[in-house]
Amino acid sequence: MNLIELHDINREFRESKTNRLEVLKGINLSIEEGDFVALMGPSGSGKSTLMHIIGLLDRPTSGLYRLHGRDVSELGDAERAHLRAQKIGFVFQTFHLLARLTALENVLLPTMYTHIPQRLKRAKEIARDLGLTDRLNHLPNDLSGGERQRVAIGRALMANPDLILADEPTGNLDSKTGQQIISVLKKLHREGRTIVLVTHDQAVARQADHILSMHDGRITNPERVKAKVR
Ligand code: ADP
Ligand code: MG
Repeated sequence: MNLIELHDINREFRESKTNRLEVLKGINLSIEEGDFVALMGPSGSGKSTLMHIIGLLDRPTSGLYRLHGRDVSELGDAERAHLRAQKIGFVFQTFHLLARLTALENVLLPTMYTHIPQRLKRAKEIARDLGLTDRLNHLPNDLSGGERQRVAIGRALMANPDLILADEPTGNLDSKTGQQIISVLKKLHREGRTIVLVTHDQAVARQADHILSMHDGRITNPERVKAKVR
């Protein structure tokens, strides 16, 4: 079954009264449940814009987006926020941790106001699986880049999302540390989650099941080329 279906998605930004910037140009794409897809393309080709739309952080100017078979353009902001909190985990290049909170508090943050049973126990289990048990009381500044990204992944996992969207998660890491993060994503994929990973690194992308190429607002191989190396 398709988890994500995009039909003729366009996204424009208004630069001035007379100028519009077309960033996404008729994207047609489906991603199956349990897929692990890498999205590659030059800087400025629209990858992050597409990830924001898939992640319900942004709306297309036109086109249809079905998530779990449901047309999400019909939903109001509150319903979208609720769906996002329950179903989607984000991981960003720059980690987006809160500097004044410890690693554990950062992992707990998205569930501060929700009723996840035994959330402290769950946060500690997630942190343990990510190899962070000894680092839980440290502030982000006292953590290495790889540890920070693992904290960010832990935070994304708290709500047990089906879909993980990772936008250049290894972009600020050396290749060895980056590979550790990719190994974490591969494990999450084996557990049944759907992963969409933006990367500039061929060696990283080849570890996904499929590689999508984006150029100037278009996916140039929507039929999804099978990655060569597994
Ligand atoms: P990528 O992630 O592939 O580097 P982006 O999706 O971030 O590309 O950006 C694609 C283009 O859209 C860029 O030219 C960028 O400047 C423009 N863009 C992205 N977001 C906005 C915005 N909120 N307002 C105006 N232009 C934007
Ligand atoms: Mg980007």
